[in-house]
Formats: sequence, structure tokens, C-alpha cells
Amino acid sequence: IERAHWAEVDKYLVETLIGADDDLAAALEANGAAKLPPVDVSPTHGRFLNLLARMIGATRVLEVGTLGGYSTIWLARAVGDSGRVVTLEYDPEYAAVARANLDRAGVGSRVDIRIGAALDTLPGVEADGMGPFDLVFVDADKVNNSNYVRWALRLSRPGTVIVVDNVVRGGSVSNPDLDDDAVRASREVLGMLATEPRVDATALQTVGSTGWDGFALALVVG
Ligand code: SAM
Repeated sequence: IERAHWAEVDKYLVETLIGADDDLAAALEANGAAKLPPVDVSPTHGRFLNLLARMIGATRVLEVGTLGGYSTIWLARAVGDSGRVVTLEYDPEYAAVARANLDRAGVGSRVDIRIGAALDTLPGVEADGMGPFDLVFVDADKVNNSNYVRWALRLSRPGTVIVVDNVVRGGSVSNPDLDDDAVRASREVLGMLATEPRVDATALQTVGSTGWDGFALALVVG
């Protein structure tokens, strides 16, 4: 019942604040047709990422975990014509769907999709001088979250914002005894953000159409 109510409120918020968006709707439809898992960020979360990027004047964004490029469209819209989003995706078929979605949305020229395991493609992102990034959005295989935050720090400057998605995991994150790799990884990345002197961090719980979860938000301070 709770979950249905969260989804109903999300629907209301989307209708009220975000409205219809043909390119985003087409992207979700294409994702469905290509049988991508429906694990995109929600519209309110996508708009949140877009606003956050604009609030900090981001022109260089790194995303780990593209899927069909739904969140990428929100981020690419935020960086403007001369901005750049580098997004990393393991699955070449997902990346092809994302490429078509981004092109259809008119932001394809701002987006560099790099295919492969992110830990294998990140060294190339660094070698190509794509950093430092203004905003890093981590939303891929959760077990590697700490590794991705380490990379985010390497590709950061003071002022960079790092967002790590899905760290609350239906409330499981507060249970230290749970035998679940993703929960262990959440606890590990939160512990790392807490002790890393280069960042100040928090985490916010969220409920909505995607259930109960939350994201960590960190500011690079040194
Ligand atoms: N950010 C997307 C959005 O909101 O539209 C959703 C991303 S989805 C939650 C996670 C993605 O990470 C999947 O497309 C998956 O294939 C990708 N992924 C999983 N392991 C990966 C890895 N090692 N390197 C890069 N991408 C990976």
C-alpha cells in the first residue's frame, strides 16, 4: 500500500512539475522495445540531476551507468551546447539504444558513450584529458561504488559534486549483518565518503515510483 501511494504521489509530482516530454517518453519507449531493464532514474530524480548540474554551472559531467540514456538526456540538457557528458556503459546493445535516444533528443553531439566495464574505460577517460569533471553521477554495478568514487575523486577538483545512486536499498543499508553484496557495497561507499578528507557528504532517502531508496551527495572540498 505504501509503495502504491509513493508511486501515486510521484505521478502527481511529475504531472504537476515536469509535464509531458516527448523525447524522454520516446527514450523510455525505445528502452522498453529493446527490453532494457526499467531501472532508469525517475522523472523527478532526472530533473533533480538536471537542476543540480545547472545550479553548479556544470559543463563537464561524468556518468557511470548509461542504460538507455534516460538520465544522460537530463544531464546533457543541463550542460548546454558547448558542454560534454561522458557516460560509461558495459553493454554495447544498451549503449546503441542510448545513442539513438540521445540523438533523437537532440543532445547526441554533447555525449561521449564509452563502452566496456567502467573500471576498464575510466583510465582512457583520464588519458584523454576529459576531466576534471564538475559533476559525477554513479549509477552502475553497485558493488563497484567505492571504486567509482575513487575514480571520481581522481577526476575531480575542489567544487566537484558526486552523486551515488541507490545507496539505501529498501532500507537494508542500516543492517550490518545482511548477506548482500550491494548492501555491503553501499555501507562501504558511505563509510568511505565519511572518512575521505577530500569530501563533505550526506545521503538522502527517497520514496517514489521506484520504491524506497536514496542517494549520497558529496562535495569535493580539497
Ligand atoms: N543511469 C541510468 C538511467 O537512470 O537512465 C540507469 C543505469 S542502470 C541503473 C545501470 C547500468 O550500468 C546498466 O545499464 C548496466 O549495464 C551498467 N553497468 C553494469 N555494470 C557496469 C560496469 N562494470 N561498467 C559500466 N556499466 C555497467
